[in-house]
Amino acid sequence: MTRKTSSNVTRHRGLVDAAARAKLLGQRGAVVWLTGLPASGKSTIGYALERRLIDGGNAAYVLDGDNVRHGLNGDLGFSPQDRDENIRRIGEVAALFADSGMIAITSFISPYRAARARAREATGEQPFVEIHVATPLAVCEERDPKGLYARARAGEVPSFTGVSAPYESPESPELELDTAGKTVDQCVDEVVATLHREGVLPPA
Ligand code: ADP
Repeated sequence: MTRKTSSNVTRHRGLVDAAARAKLLGQRGAVVWLTGLPASGKSTIGYALERRLIDGGNAAYVLDGDNVRHGLNGDLGFSPQDRDENIRRIGEVAALFADSGMIAITSFISPYRAARARAREATGEQPFVEIHVATPLAVCEERDPKGLYARARAGEVPSFTGVSAPYESPESPELELDTAGKTVDQCVDEVVATLHREGVLPPA
């Protein structure tokens, strides 16, 4: 899966580089990519992480289904092609956020390795921190905050990841985070420690 470029376009070089943006904002832009089964905890952790980063003086922004499927991707449905296009656009938008100096946090199941690899490629030289929210399926299914697993088991939701559609686990994520038996705060601690380790935040 490679990134396409429109024909007859060349990149215009701006007069501000990543170092200048980092100096202004006091941080380095990055993409924190949360991936995992439905109800594994991606959105809960994503929003708690955004809160923690903002409270600590870092500019961060969550991209998730609510703000993406209502606007930018409002034209997309849930066919395999549309799901792929959804993730492709999110990867590109997250990359632009990172380039602008923001810490972009994405919260999508994003079940396919190739699509996640493409998002990593789009991010280029900024850090791309892949977090596998690796909560066991049984725990996700027991949580079932939206009742979707129950509906999927009853055959009412076609192609539901974890039940009737595959999830390809990351092979070498920056963090493997099993949330079972942990508080949201403990999970955010683990993500923040990873951001220090990966050079997104200064050494702790
Ligand atoms: P996803 O975005 O992966 O579909 P959600 O964040 O919407 O998942 O739902 C996860 C559910 O699990 C929420 O109801 C949340 O309160 C619960 N939960 C329990 N413990 C945790 C934890 N340690 N981290 C994240 N979510 C947790």
